[in-house]
Amino acid sequence: MALNYDQAVEKYEPTLGLEVHVELNTKSKMFCGCATEFGASPNTQTCPICLGLPGALPVVNAKAIESSILIGLALNCSIAPFSRFARKNYFYPDMPKNFQTSQYDEPICVNGYLDVEIETEEGPKQFRVEIERVHMEEDTGKSLHVGGATGRIHGADYSLLDYNRAGIPLVEIVTKIVAGTGKYAPQVARAYVTELRDILRSLGVSDVKMEQGSMRCDVNLSLAPVGSGQLGTRSETKNVNSLRSVERAVIGEVIRQSNRLEAGERIVQETRHFQEESGQTRSGRSKEQAEDYRYFPEPDLVPVAPAADWIEELRATLPEKPSTRRKRLQEAWNVPAKEMEAMVNAELLDVVEETIGLGAEPTRARSWWLGEVSRLANEREVSPTTLITSAQVAEVIALIESGELTDKLARQVVEGVVAGEGTPRQVIDQRGLKVVSDDGALMAAIEAAIAAQPDTAERVRGGNLPAAGALIGAVMKATGGQADAAKVRELLLKHLGQG
Ligand code: ZN
Ligand code: MN
Repeated sequence: MALNYDQAVEKYEPTLGLEVHVELNTKSKMFCGCATEFGASPNTQTCPICLGLPGALPVVNAKAIESSILIGLALNCSIAPFSRFARKNYFYPDMPKNFQTSQYDEPICVNGYLDVEIETEEGPKQFRVEIERVHMEEDTGKSLHVGGATGRIHGADYSLLDYNRAGIPLVEIVTKIVAGTGKYAPQVARAYVTELRDILRSLGVSDVKMEQGSMRCDVNLSLAPVGSGQLGTRSETKNVNSLRSVERAVIGEVIRQSNRLEAGERIVQETRHFQEESGQTRSGRSKEQAEDYRYFPEPDLVPVAPAADWIEELRATLPEKPSTRRKRLQEAWNVPAKEMEAMVNAELLDVVEETIGLGAEPTRARSWWLGEVSRLANEREVSPTTLITSAQVAEVIALIESGELTDKLARQVVEGVVAGEGTPRQVIDQRGLKVVSDDGALMAAIEAAIAAQPDTAERVRGGNLPAAGALIGAVMKATGGQADAAKVRELLLKHLGQG
């Protein structure tokens, strides 16, 4: 009988290893001056260097080195006083030089760690993920396989190549073996990639958009019988492109490998591909050993030897750690962990903080960004921050607090701003979205409501105050939500002898 996940982790101990590739957001490429803009027409951002033409000489991008050092420092690494580039030789059509300029035995950062916290049955628990190395390299171009059903090369009629991405600076962050997580391996893997993404974002060195491929994760996983003290053969699941998929890839591999082992089969050391629909992995190629790449030092590039005082200057600019910041804000705003997580996952923490900084009450700031603005953004399949600014949301909230807008009117104002009708003030003026607080207009609506529900009015007269809700609702409806509800209540109760 096949083992499920829980049965698998009772018998087998998972060991993780995570390799994350991050595209840096430098203006130019790693070894040439070509632009790096995402989505440009194919092959418009290329030159003899990134096309690997004979005789072209690369020069290292200083900003990429700075970003790499910042990443190393934020991950508690030592920064190598001397590091070198190496050629990693292999053939692939999207890599015109037939080698990738990377780093091998002399990476720029080594020996760091990142602490992550996960929720367990016994409460929150911290795990330390040790970092083996952070090294610099370049991205390859992109192949587009046209024809076949799967978008893969098998069954395709022909393939197109776009070298715009060739030579974009990449940083590869490799963990040491992560052992001792037991059944929590999937959560630890996800928490590590999440925390890493948040750190990279806080450093401003990358877009870290997993769905666009500017951050990609390879998940190494092996199993050994619990208590054996051994290390099993690992598989490497390539280019997992969402946080949820990282977690699912670990679960999928634990189940697959444990069932092979149960059946007396061997685990093959190979790369595998994660399949989004099924959550399972599919065999790729058998894994090359490092020796197969015939690495050798890059003769065309000088070594990287950052000055110690420059490193210290960079260390002094490190921002607050995202986990520390989250804890601080969570306490200041007094929000449950779940809601905090929702804001982080929706990438709304920065704008919510900004909105609150502009004077908005924390609960309102959160609910506008996570609620109405996110809803409008989902409809349009864009990010909420592209639709409206923190200042505009803060302005709308201030208008609600001053009684100039009801929640309902405020939603129309936000909708108008999002539709490009101008600032909140302009939308209010153009759409005529003023709260009706004019006593005469309100009294007319109140009298109409009483006339329509005489029995209810009688109950209120008799002292049944909750019954007034139905009348207030009728007035709000009659005024299209533009009445000031508190004012309506006050006038109504007075009129019925209860004020
Ligand atoms: Zn170029
Ligand atoms: Mn790599």
